[in-house]
Amino acid sequence: MKTRQLRLKHLIMGLAMAAFFLTSIGSIWSGYRMNVDSIKENSLETNRVYAQKLATTASAYLEEAFQILGYSADHVETIIDDEAALDLETDRLKMQNNMFNSVIVTNADGLVLSVSPPSVDVKGKYLTSSGAQEALAKKKPLVSKPYEGITGRLIIFISYPIFSAKNEYLGMVAGTIYLKEKNVFNLLLGEHYYHDGSYVFVVDEDGRIIYHQDTSRINDVVIKNKAVQDVVAGKNGAKLVTNTMGVEMLAGYSAVPLAGWGVVSQRPLEVALEPSFDRVKDVAIKAIPIMLVSIIILLWTAARIARPLQQLATLTEESLDSRNVEGLKSVRSWYFEAYYLKSALIRSLSFLQGQVSYFKDQSTTDPLTGVTNRRTMDAMLAEWHKNHLMHSIILLDLDHFKSVNDTYGHAVGDKVLQFLAKNMQAVARENDICCRYGGEEFIILLPNTTVEEALIVAENLRQRLANTNSPCGRPVTLSAGVAEYPLMAKTTEALIEAADGALYVAKQAGRNQVKIAREHIIADM
Ligand code: GH3
Ligand code: MG
Ligand code: MG
Repeated sequence: MKTRQLRLKHLIMGLAMAAFFLTSIGSIWSGYRMNVDSIKENSLETNRVYAQKLATTASAYLEEAFQILGYSADHVETIIDDEAALDLETDRLKMQNNMFNSVIVTNADGLVLSVSPPSVDVKGKYLTSSGAQEALAKKKPLVSKPYEGITGRLIIFISYPIFSAKNEYLGMVAGTIYLKEKNVFNLLLGEHYYHDGSYVFVVDEDGRIIYHQDTSRINDVVIKNKAVQDVVAGKNGAKLVTNTMGVEMLAGYSAVPLAGWGVVSQRPLEVALEPSFDRVKDVAIKAIPIMLVSIIILLWTAARIARPLQQLATLTEESLDSRNVEGLKSVRSWYFEAYYLKSALIRSLSFLQGQVSYFKDQSTTDPLTGVTNRRTMDAMLAEWHKNHLMHSIILLDLDHFKSVNDTYGHAVGDKVLQFLAKNMQAVARENDICCRYGGEEFIILLPNTTVEEALIVAENLRQRLANTNSPCGRPVTLSAGVAEYPLMAKTTEALIEAADGALYVAKQAGRNQVKIAREHIIADM
């Protein structure tokens, strides 16, 4: 108890606190996880819907572009040899719709017949770019892949074939989009949605970026992005991807089948989850008062649970010393185990104490007669002598006891001895002590008693015995000698010797009588 050992109280407290914190942290964590999952899901869905909307817009744009170019191609067929009329038509197409960065008309060989704006200096030149060559070869409406034009610009080429009434291929009407400059994509796909690291981009069928808010990214191939792989395969959806910079992104994507393009809208995971961190912080801060109250209740309860056990432990130790279980009885055992332990402790302590006093009695009394034994008598006399306590003794011996044994048997003799002891205790006064001196000889110690008073006690006993039938069926008699300390002897041995002398005188005088040692001492002197 005194060493630094673990206390039950601290064990319970520690256990309870651990359970409390694990539960709290666990519930906050699972709340956070649920929140994260739902934010992820929401963000993926938002991006998916947004990509889909932009893909629809892009499709609508392409359809409209083909429609306008197709309508124009019909008209151009009639004016293909009129340079002024062609210039008017390309200007109209360029200015009226604002869909293209430039508009051109070529003949079937790719020779540019007209261009708007005229600042694009290609009139009279042949278009050699792959986009233009493909359109001339296929003779059908086409959206080209990005390519570098004669002017060095990165271009997408949207073309429509011109056929004569006799269905001869005459050339094409085409609009261009300058990917790295202000173009219709900026207008259609907008510039909102970018403040928190979210962005939108459009890829062609090879996974090459044809639109990005950051123009330096245009023409990059990002086919490694899983969302891009899906979208160029014509799929729509949303998933968590890692972008080319190694940042985790919640990406939504949607295909534009008309051109084989794909629109991807993505948002950094970390940005999306920020509110979730804030919410956890918020929850944790709000929980602090409740947690504090819980902790106090917890500690208080732990102390209350530990207290009865602690008290039982301390009081058991004390009651072992004091031989008193009253302290234990006062412990408030308010729950079953403590109550049970308390009862068990009280029972076992009481039993133990009973055993102890039993053995103690055993060691101080004579087993046959129950009076004080010789050893204890010697110790008492020594104590009295040490303290100069005046006292008297009666030394007595049964008369002709041998013949009792011989006549009635040893067992009856024992009964007679017990009978004598009982009578001794009956005549003894409150503080007198009856002792077995040995065999059938007994001594009564009488503290603060003169020899005359002792004589009265001895006489009482003698008469009582002489007038009562003993277990052998008739009265037995005794002879006794009395002596007083320190009047007649200065030591315990001398005192007993004096009484023994008086006893001898009594026997000599015919038995069944009591003698005072005085005569004996006088006789000795
Ligand atoms: P006296 O009157 O001279 O004392 O005669 P007595 O027969 O009493 O003689 P003594 O004192 O010499 O004999 C004592 C006898 O007491 C001897 C012994 O057998 C008997 N005795 C001693 N202790 C016990 C005992 O514990 N039980 C029984 N039954 N007898 C005992
Ligand atoms: Mg004797
Ligand atoms: Mg005798």
